[in-house]
This record gives sequence, structure tokens and C-alpha cells, in this order.
Amino acid sequence: MKKIAMLGVGYVGLVSGTGLADFGNEVVCYDIDSTKIENLKKGIIPIYEPGLADLVKKNVEKGRLSFSMDFDQVIQDSEVIFLAVPTPSGKAGEVDLSYVFTAVDNIAKVINGFKVIVTKSTVEVGTNDKIRERMLGNNIPAEMFEVVSNPEFLREGSAIGDFMRPDRVVLGTSSERALNIMKEIYRALYLIETPIVATDIRTAEMIKYASNAFLATKISFVNEIANLCELVGADVQMVAKAMGLDGRIGKKFLHAGPGYGGSCFPKDTSALTKIAEKAGMHASIVETVIAVNERQKMRPVEKLLKFLPDLKGRTVGILGLAFKPNTDDVREAPAISVIRAILKAGGKIKAYDPEAMNEMRRHFPDITYVASSEDAIKDADALIIMTEWNEFRNMDLKFIKSVMKQPIMIDARNIYDPQKVQALGFKYDCIGRKIEN
Ligand code: NAD
Repeated sequence: MKKIAMLGVGYVGLVSGTGLADFGNEVVCYDIDSTKIENLKKGIIPIYEPGLADLVKKNVEKGRLSFSMDFDQVIQDSEVIFLAVPTPSGKAGEVDLSYVFTAVDNIAKVINGFKVIVTKSTVEVGTNDKIRERMLGNNIPAEMFEVVSNPEFLREGSAIGDFMRPDRVVLGTSSERALNIMKEIYRALYLIETPIVATDIRTAEMIKYASNAFLATKISFVNEIANLCELVGADVQMVAKAMGLDGRIGKKFLHAGPGYGGSCFPKDTSALTKIAEKAGMHASIVETVIAVNERQKMRPVEKLLKFLPDLKGRTVGILGLAFKPNTDDVREAPAISVIRAILKAGGKIKAYDPEAMNEMRRHFPDITYVASSEDAIKDADALIIMTEWNEFRNMDLKFIKSVMKQPIMIDARNIYDPQKVQALGFKYDCIGRKIEN
């Protein structure tokens, strides 16, 4: 059991902090956003993540998880300090490390004994070395701290399962002492034989970028194949299924759709190209992946324009705003690009998402948000499914047709059977499948 400070209670910090507490550690979470901490103290969870509220409650009740705004105390009482602060894209697509360095400078001000500083945030290769230099520059003696890179691979929407049963734990450090402390923190995972990849710091930092860039590549690859399938009369669902059955390829991340979004893939792919640029190399595959993804985000709108060439004054119902189901996160969601393009063309939006409407209001305060999918569809000239929430998978299509102004459906997630929808009289299109319109 270790005493842990978790800095940042966003998607990664709150899930990891709670998970580490569930592994038996004593975790205190701190965030510069006092509202989040005050709410957490009252049991109010700032994000939507299935299973998280129950796990937080359980660990708070067991006395292993708590929340505090007293930074000095949080740092001084802990042996291990995790950084789960944002690392957004800077202006040129590079990683903005200002949150990380601010946190490190603040730790240096109050450090009172040996600490392991663990970077969970996704950081540019070389950042953990810079953290060490920064601590030394703040006159903290080298024997007072060690630095570990422990990148996080959880997926929003299934974050608890991913954290509690990860495919691997990556620990990058040059210190035997820090490595042993980290192994103790993750001891619960030995029981389920989770591979621990112990390596040097820069390799650990690189593993995170290489993994995300590879997954983004799979998505852009299948989207490019989907677009080709449309041109040659093939069905991408079947192509992806058969490809995925090949153990060398694997079936995950082979779903054609409106492109990837979220807080990680867009910024991490962009950061990787910048890291390469700085190192004097051109990351041409990843650059193409980014370009393909940007184009893909416009596919639903291109398909809509085929049926409704003039969007002026037309109302489009959007089902799904989150970048994927089971989260309220809309960062870089393809729905943002689609809504922006429709508004630019003079169209109106009626939007519904089970969890993400509050987040989307920050981007589009003036579009209409409704309380149900039925309300979004009623009197709409067209309907676009942007996120494959379960509740959109089995809608009453006859009812939808009867309440829409025109029965036009763009299924950007391929959740309906084209033949069945078209047989009901819809003008229907999707991504990469055979359409008879
Ligand atoms: P987030 O924006 O949801 O949360 C970050 C939190 O850190 C916020 O609550 C913010 O107020 C807080 N914060 C900022 N500065 C702070 C400071 N100095 N001290 C304490 N708290 C501070 O971000 P996130 O999605 O949790 O991502 C965090 C990091 O983890 C990023 O580097 C991201 O790339 C990485 N990551 C994210 C995911 C994901 O699915 N979201 C997965 C793996 C890795």
C-alpha cells in the first residue's frame, strides 16, 4: 500500500486515482478546479463514465480515496505523485506542457521528503527528463525525487475495465527504487498476470504515441477502404470483418465511420508529427492519417448534400454528439465538424445526445438541444446518426418516417441495415456499404 497524490481529476486522473485506491493504495486527489473537488466531496462525479460513481463511492467509504484542495498537505503526505493534468495541442500542433511544468514547479515549492513523480499525462518524448531538470533547477537535490513515465491507455466509455484489467502497464524509469515502488502500487495486477513493461523513460513516452498513432492509422485505413468500397461496389463491413479475423490484423478499430475524435488521437497524432519534425524526420504515414481523418469528418455532410443540395432553412436532426458512445466527451468529435458545416450552409440543427449535450453547448450555444431522439427527428428534413449509442440502434423506423418532414437518413456509424431502411422508403446513406439510391 502506498500513499498517492493524484493531480487532476479529469477522465484519466479520477479513473486512475479511484482504480489505484481500489488496488489498496491510499489516494488523495487534488485539482486546480475547486468546483470539481467540492462536488466530489459531496459524491458528485464531474464526468460521465459508466461504473465510476459506484467505484468512487466504494473507495471513499473504505477510507482509501479522498479529495482535497490543500495542495501542500496532499503533496507532503504522499510518497508518490501522479500527474494527470491536461497536455493539449499548442498552436502549431505541438504538445502544450505548461500544465505539467506548473504542477512540477508547485511540487518543488512544498516537497518535504523523497517523492516519486509519475507522469500519467501523455507527454512529448523527453518531457520526463525535463521534469527532472526542472526539479533540479528548483534546487531540489537529486536524492529527493525520482521520475517515472507511466502512460495511460484507458478508453473513455470503458475506462474502469481498461484501468482495472489493462493489457499492459508501462513503467519507464532509470531508478530501481522507483520501479519497485511502482510495482507495489500495481501489485493487484500481478494476480491477474498483467504484463509489466519496465523500460527507460523515453521508450515509455514513445510507446504511448506509437500505440495511439497505430490505432488512429487503423481507423483512417478502414475509412479509406470504406470510401473505395463505395466506388467499386463492395461492402466495408464484410471487408473489415474478414480482415479482422486475421490474427495478424485483429478486429478492433476497424469500424468505418465519420473519423476519429476525442481528446487523444487527434492531439497525439499531431504531436507525433511535431516530435518527428523536431527530431529532423518526416512522419509521413501519420501525417496522411491525420489528413484522411479530416476529410472523413465531412463524409456525412457530403452524403447529406446528395439528397438535400440546398440546406438553407432546412432542419437537420443530429443523433449523437459525443465522439463515441458511453461518454460525455465531445473534444474533437466529428459531430462538431458536421454541425459547423451544416450551419455554414444555412441549415438549422436539432441535436440530441444522452450525455454530451452540456459539453456541446460550449461549442454551439445557439443550436437547439432536445430531450429525446424523437424530438430531434420530429419535423426534421434529414437525420444524421453521429454516435452509435445503444438507444439509437433499434429505433422505430416507421414512426421516424411518419414524423420527419422528409425521410432522409445518414447513418454515419453503419448501425442500420441499408436494405431494410430503404425498403421503408427512406433516402438512406452510410459509410462504405452498398446503397441502391
Ligand atoms: P481532463 O481535461 O479531463 O482533466 C485534466 C484535469 O487536470 C482537469 O480537471 C484540470 O482542472 C486539472 N488540472 C490542470 N492543471 C492542474 C494542476 N496544476 N494541478 C492539478 N490539476 C490540474 O484531461 P484527461 O482527459 O483526463 O487527460 C489528462 C492527460 O491524460 C492528458 O495528457 C491526456 O492526453 C492523457 N490521456 C487521456 C486519455 C483519455 O481518454 N481522456 C487517455 C489516456 C491518456
